Amino acid sequence: MTVWIESDLCDGCRRCVRACPYDAIAIEDGKANILERCTNCGACLAECKNRAIQSDAVPKEIPDFSDHEGVWVYAEQRDGVLAKVTLELLGIAQELGQERRQKVSAVLIGDRLENLTHDLIRHGADQVFLAEDPCLQPYRTLAHVKIMEDLINEHKPEILLIGATHIGRDLAPRLSRRVGVGLTADCTALSIDPEEKILLQTRPAFGGNVMATIANRYSRPQMATVRPGVMEARTDEAKAGTIIHCEVQLDEADIKTKVLEMFEEKRKHAPITDSKVIVAGGRGVNGEAGFQMLRTLADLLDGEVAGTRVVAEQGFVPADCQVGQTGKTVRPEIYIACGISGAIQHRAGMMNSRFIIAINKDPDAPIFKVADWGIIGDLHDVVPELVRQLTPAS
Ligand SMILES: Cc1cc2nc3c(=O)[nH]c(=O)nc-3n(C[C@H](O)[C@H](O)[C@H](O)COP(=O)(O)OP(=O)(O)OC[C@H]3O[C@@H](n4cnc5c(N)ncnc54)[C@H](O)[C@@H]3O)c2cc1C
Repeated sequence: MTVWIESDLCDGCRRCVRACPYDAIAIEDGKANILERCTNCGACLAECKNRAIQSDAVPKEIPDFSDHEGVWVYAEQRDGVLAKVTLELLGIAQELGQERRQKVSAVLIGDRLENLTHDLIRHGADQVFLAEDPCLQPYRTLAHVKIMEDLINEHKPEILLIGATHIGRDLAPRLSRRVGVGLTADCTALSIDPEEKILLQTRPAFGGNVMATIANRYSRPQMATVRPGVMEARTDEAKAGTIIHCEVQLDEADIKTKVLEMFEEKRKHAPITDSKVIVAGGRGVNGEAGFQMLRTLADLLDGEVAGTRVVAEQGFVPADCQVGQTGKTVRPEIYIACGISGAIQHRAGMMNSRFIIAINKDPDAPIFKVADWGIIGDLHDVVPELVRQLTPAS
């Protein structure tokens, strides 16, 4: 592709100069001039009102996707227990489905799982594709990918959402490759573009310093993974739905892996994603004695202690208690941030908490921008006072 300027049409308005991400257009003698560093990205083309910028590129045609319909959620389960993220995804799937006037479907794969279908329906599924076979339990990549691939090819959904869990992160990339579509991982927001009616998938980019919105015009289904805790689950006890039993034709030899043994790592604490109260510490907590103080406060509130990446790396909280973009996303009722500056990467994991209390000695700390209550002060004074007031009189 080549881009050039029809000088007669150019009025030197500079719109193209501003639009060029590579500084590759300069105004010389009142006319735009394409410089050598132009990458032919085409960002300037639509900006020129006089159509003075020309290109020999043939615009890519958007295929006809009118036969694709439905918002699907991969219903992750382990040992017959639905992953929380599945129910959260059904919440956002309902919103997307309403906007697109399309049905929401859950795809449930495993063995003897019919008892879970009601839960999927009351959380928002209009229909549940149920694929059951002993070889589908427990999860194995090739088995679940095959079932998903066949269902997608047969039913042609418009949107497919998968939890960004260990299983989802294993399944989604392989599946997207199989069906030949793009995948936007770790989305934090999903919506429908009002004009083009396509899925807008927002996720952090460049180390979390910007939010990028990604849309897929040229292939279906539009596929995204979403981290647990980002979306909100909803229930409607009266909701009805249908169950579609899927035929499973799988040969054990095609699956290529065997699960010989499953063992669960013993947790020393409850998962922070389930906790209603989180007392989180940052660098300002300043060492083990400070974290012991946070644990006392958390115990009084029946909560869990979490932390920023800094303190997780220092070993003051376990890695699975790190909150943020590269840690966990949490939505507790109360989040108490102690000695945390509130970097964007940390806020990404906690800003949907119902009530945020921040304790920081710096009045300009960014954490105060998302806090419902801000206490400006030394946490080594404030936390013991909270503990004192919360401790029941003996
Ligand atoms: C790609 C990438 C991913 C990242 N992912 C994450 C992530 O998932 N989670 C995460 O948390 N970070 C993440 N980070 C790091 C993030 O950018 C910040 O560096 C980090 O969150 C800062 O941690 P902090 O608030 O503990 O420390 P600091 O930023 O150093 O803040 C310490 C705060 O404590 C306050 N303070 C000090 N002493 C006291 C006191 N006695 N009383 C009260 N307040 C006090 C200070 O005023 C300050 O505001 C990521 C960074 C990158 C580049």
